[in-house]
Amino acid sequence: MPRRAVIISKLFKLCRQALSAKEPSDNDGAYVTTLSEPLIIPRSEHGISRAQFSPNALKVLYRLKDGGYDAYLVGGCVRDLLLGLEPKDFDVVTNATPEQVKKLFRNCRLIGRRFRLAHIVFGREIIEVATMRGHHEEQNTQKCNKSQASEHGQLLRDNVYGTIDEDAERRDFTINALYYCIKDYSIYDYANGVNAIKKRRVELIGDPETRYREDPVRMLRAIRFATKLDMTISPATAKPITQLADLLANIPPARLFEECLKLFLSGKAQENFSALRDFGLFKYLFPELDKILDANPGGLEEKFVTQMFVNTDARINNDKKVTPAFIFAALLWFPLLKRTEELMQREQLPHFEALASAMNQVLSESAQQVAVPKRFTLGARDIWHIQHRFDKRGGQRAYRLSQQPRFKAAYDFMLLLVDSGQDELKELCDWWTAYLNTDVNGQKMMVKSLGGNNRPRRRRSGGSRRRTNKPASE
Ligand code: ATP
Ligand code: MG
Repeated sequence: MPRRAVIISKLFKLCRQALSAKEPSDNDGAYVTTLSEPLIIPRSEHGISRAQFSPNALKVLYRLKDGGYDAYLVGGCVRDLLLGLEPKDFDVVTNATPEQVKKLFRNCRLIGRRFRLAHIVFGREIIEVATMRGHHEEQNTQKCNKSQASEHGQLLRDNVYGTIDEDAERRDFTINALYYCIKDYSIYDYANGVNAIKKRRVELIGDPETRYREDPVRMLRAIRFATKLDMTISPATAKPITQLADLLANIPPARLFEECLKLFLSGKAQENFSALRDFGLFKYLFPELDKILDANPGGLEEKFVTQMFVNTDARINNDKKVTPAFIFAALLWFPLLKRTEELMQREQLPHFEALASAMNQVLSESAQQVAVPKRFTLGARDIWHIQHRFDKRGGQRAYRLSQQPRFKAAYDFMLLLVDSGQDELKELCDWWTAYLNTDVNGQKMMVKSLGGNNRPRRRRSGGSRRRTNKPASE
């Protein structure tokens, strides 16, 4: 864009800001409404260079451009680079339709029903290419079969294509309506996002209530961006959340699982947990735990969950591995104990059977909100089972237990229980810590010196089948 046009565009923007009665402000309930001219920041006035992009994202941008289409990097990657952070991924937006994109790339697959997207696959890296979205108000036009809203105002489909200006309005937060243009390397700022970045403010584009109704997951995203970027949620954007929290009940559990992973594996899990509780959103993710936490504010359960997230954050921030199985095992631990107790009392089940039944119930009920894939629920079950085997150490049992694939996670889980105040486990936990820190001979001595209760029962002859600890299938 020629320099004069840039200056005119900036002037226009300034005038618009001065005249507009609905500019974002921290003090009133105002919000950014319809967007018009973008603020265009030329290459000479911003610090983002192509060397900071993923080479694959650059390839995609150039191939689209050479194919005669417009192509921009958009959203989080531009925002993060402006903040001096390393982007998690690079998203591209173009005026080419998904089918046109597919024709340009052999390594392209089209995905999604709700949002049809092209994925360009480069080994482990995927560059997501979206076609610019348009408006979908015109219910009586042919557009309506491409866009569909539920009775709650939730967008079930959003495959109406449009211009870049319209696309910017469809974005969620002002800090995410930023576009890096591959033609002239300038940044297009449609919603005063650069200013919001400077003020470290997370604010929705448009009327917050409508935008949350269209997609209630934006409530979770508001929290995630505020903690991730060390920003505050603007009052107008924060205000409707508590009241609209129950809209999360309409979100498919598989999508909520994906969002939970983002919230809990971001390195800011503890802050996210605390904000989710404050805004009344947590109960739509983990209702049973939420009730238990409400019943005992500041209690052992809260300490346990908080400490689990503190530890998770520390591991992530030190580039250590974290398994979601551990997180979900911890989030459902107290609901599991409660249900086991109930089943033992109500149905007079022995402990082992009550526990197996409670695991099935707690996991299947929780899957109504957050659909945790089986590979993680199996891991959670193993961690739970091992908690009940730690005290059986006689003979070869301690050794065999320590060789189980989930043993280390289960041991960390017990440490966490002790750290958060389960004093009755301290002695057992110390025993295992010593056991793991000694050599084989030392371990044998430790097992020998255990009292008689820990000797394994001798198997009766006559071949009575041993009970296995295998859980009932989900
Ligand atoms: P990060 O990748 O760090 O989580 P991001 O902003 O890139 O942050 P993505 O989920 O990767 O988030 O989405 C990319 C962009 O798509 C966003 O920046 C935003 O412009 C747009 N977007 C994503 N989800 C929504 C949504 N629910 N409503 C409106 N726009 C959205
Ligand atoms: Mg992203």
